[in-house]
Amino acid sequence: MTAVRRVLLPSPRSFCAGVERAIEIVERLLEQHGPPVYVRNQIVHNAQVVAGLEARGAVFVSELDEVPAGALVVFSAHGVAPAVEAEAARRGLDAVDATCPLVAKVHAEAKRAADAGDTVVLIGHDGHEEVVGTMGVAPAQTVLVETAADVAALRVADERRVTYLSQTTLAVTEVEAIAAALRDRFPHIRGQGAEDICYATSNRQAAVAAIVDEADLVLVVGSANSSNSNRLVELARTAGVASYLVETAAAVDPAWLDGAATVAVTAGASAPPRLVDEVVAMIAGLGPVEVVERAVAEETQEFLLPQRLRGT
Ligand code: SF4
Repeated sequence: MTAVRRVLLPSPRSFCAGVERAIEIVERLLEQHGPPVYVRNQIVHNAQVVAGLEARGAVFVSELDEVPAGALVVFSAHGVAPAVEAEAARRGLDAVDATCPLVAKVHAEAKRAADAGDTVVLIGHDGHEEVVGTMGVAPAQTVLVETAADVAALRVADERRVTYLSQTTLAVTEVEAIAAALRDRFPHIRGQGAEDICYATSNRQAAVAAIVDEADLVLVVGSANSSNSNRLVELARTAGVASYLVETAAAVDPAWLDGAATVAVTAGASAPPRLVDEVVAMIAGLGPVEVVERAVAEETQEFLLPQRLRGT
């Protein structure tokens, strides 16, 4: 077995501002109100984060009917359809919205376009919670495309009245290709290329792209349902480099490290930084390594907490 000599840490990696805000909302509510604090769906797509909050008294549910009448419920960072907000109000729930402001921005764009009479073409992955929420803004006027091939089959009410938007956590290159196919098909379409992809997703992709040619192996820390984490694995594999998604250091198969002199370790936006540290420590435990940070951007983005939690 060839010992790893170098660990590259592409930066930015790990938590983004939207994930930090969502976790802080649940933590502060637990401190203020004590358990239980109900959370609709995983607050962020990371099993370790969810388990940590569960241990402190958060109760994760799939549907609002699992929340007792009048109880406190948090909507996850991925956002919810307006019908879910209405249902919470109808049941008298005390709802706190942890939707990432960048997802909320896409919801606002969908509403604006639909109110203006456009068909909204959403580029996204069917069934992803963010997509379910965004489709729910104007369900009668929104259609989903997952691939450039889907574009040919699209039917819209008026080809001159179409706007496209995208899920925030897709691959920049993939969205650009689908947007190009949409512009070919609908020359009057409105939309902004890959601009709906959030800064955190695009920065993490750029950071991996910048080092992938130097790496023999790219390990991405993240949960299996984390969209932006999966895109990082795909990016590395597309570049011809072996890459695996790992939940924790325990999931790293030592056989992957055979012959890998340079290993890059990154993490999706929902994965805690300590899990990256643990993967690096696991590799360092196999023999001496040089650990090298490689930054392509500095992230200074912060999002305000909901008004009721500020200054608490
Ligand atoms: S990945 Fe992007 S959209 Fe999702 S929570 Fe983070 S900043 Fe917001």
